[in-house]
Amino acid sequence: MRTSEIRSRWLDFFASKDHHIAPSVPLISPDPSILFTIAGMVPFIPYIIGTEKAPWPRVASVQKCIRTNDIDNVGKTTRHGTFFQMNGNFSFGDYFKEGAIDFAFELLTGSVDKGNYGLDADRLWVTLWEEDHESFDVLTKKIGIDPKHIVRLPRNENFWDTGQPGPAGPCAEWHYDRGPAYGPEAVGGNVDPGGDRYLEVWNLVFDQFLRGEGKGKDYPLLGELDAKAIDTGAGLERLAVLLQDKANMYEIDEVYPVIQATEQLTGLKYGQNQDPSVDIRMRVIADHVRSSLMLIGDGVQPGNDGRGYVLRRLVRRAVRAMRLLGVDRAVLPDLLPVSKDVMKLSYPELEQRWGQISDIAYAEEEAFLRTLSSGTTIFDNMVKSAQNKTISGADAFALHDTYGFPIDLTLEMASEAGLQVDQDSFRALMQEQKDRARADAVNKKTGHVDSRIYHELAEKVGGKVDFLGYTESTATA
Ligand code: ATP
Ligand code: MG
Ligand code: MG
Ligand code: MG
Repeated sequence: MRTSEIRSRWLDFFASKDHHIAPSVPLISPDPSILFTIAGMVPFIPYIIGTEKAPWPRVASVQKCIRTNDIDNVGKTTRHGTFFQMNGNFSFGDYFKEGAIDFAFELLTGSVDKGNYGLDADRLWVTLWEEDHESFDVLTKKIGIDPKHIVRLPRNENFWDTGQPGPAGPCAEWHYDRGPAYGPEAVGGNVDPGGDRYLEVWNLVFDQFLRGEGKGKDYPLLGELDAKAIDTGAGLERLAVLLQDKANMYEIDEVYPVIQATEQLTGLKYGQNQDPSVDIRMRVIADHVRSSLMLIGDGVQPGNDGRGYVLRRLVRRAVRAMRLLGVDRAVLPDLLPVSKDVMKLSYPELEQRWGQISDIAYAEEEAFLRTLSSGTTIFDNMVKSAQNKTISGADAFALHDTYGFPIDLTLEMASEAGLQVDQDSFRALMQEQKDRARADAVNKKTGHVDSRIYHELAEKVGGKVDFLGYTESTATA
């Protein structure tokens, strides 16, 4: 089943259960307290926490999401993307636990002919809050899940809140047992025994209680809410992993074509490499290319901070991973259209805006290739002359200041070379540069140039004349 079909089945199923179907909001979060839309519930927060009245009692969506906190998992676990789509259904004071559990079970395990996903009910495992007897009863008595497949967890593992007094409640997380090939068995009901055998697919959040003051999960439950809410999220890619019987989310139909394009460019075969880092890099490239496409498609432009910097990092990581696989030239013109051609099935606007999207992406790659070609030789020399397996703060600063290497690029390249970076002294030099810029601004006003600052700096970095030269030339540029 194609991902675009899994998506439309979701929406059709909940429409048939009287849900309003809401379009995905952009990846630029409508909630100003977060940079990106990180979950399906983001556009509905006021209705979930009850600060606004919802225009519909039940709604469903397939929401585009970005989670930067998962970036280091990408390519290494089977299940984390920086971009992914979260299917959701929501109830605001309408159905509650029983309704949400019924819907989840019916859609997951109902027959494919009737529009459902047809998964095997015997392979489902559900984690619950240990005091949620109501859900336990619905799952075991009504639905017929084996009680051995229900894992009861303390509040600090399975309880949602907003971090402050207000609504809170338990979760029911559905996992699917993919079998022994994917990791060890759940001993003592632990569905997270390492490995990805028990794939978390769907999280049902029951917004049930009013909570009081307290740190972490240590707060009193003051009573039940009048208007309880349901907030659920199921990873579309994770459903696709199961329904397409793929090893991981990078091998599903919406992602894998980019891996195939990297095979073409590198001459390497995915899945047949002694060195696992090759496959990891191909997966990272496929993920980051797709995330960059979707971010630019939603109006994010590369930049030096905030969202723009996240995009820049994704593009740069993809380009660098390709270099590490042996391809030095521009690669986005070969990769980005491949991702667009699969993603446009669900997001036709990508085709309409393609001219602009590709211009932005290709220009960013060209600029980065120029940065790399001027800085890489210098970097390699720094690696050769590094003392105690550490790149000095002054070197990292020079890379930043003169060659436009952001510190995390230096950190990543250093770690690939088995080196560390003296970040403390790098930060101190950055601070001095800021102070100097401020002093310059003042001096411009007074017309007086204070050269002491440069001499002080020269002493701190060990009197490196060439380094000082760059600084002065950039300072006067
Ligand atoms: P995990 O434990 O696997 O990191 P999570 O508990 O952080 O997932 P939730 O916040 O519960 O995830 O989000 C709801 C659902 O969204 C998850 O059950 C999963 O199906 C999906 N999901 C979450 N993060 C990702 C991601 N980075 N890539 C793909 N799907 C994701
Ligand atoms: Mg997570
Ligand atoms: Mg989880
Ligand atoms: Mg979860």
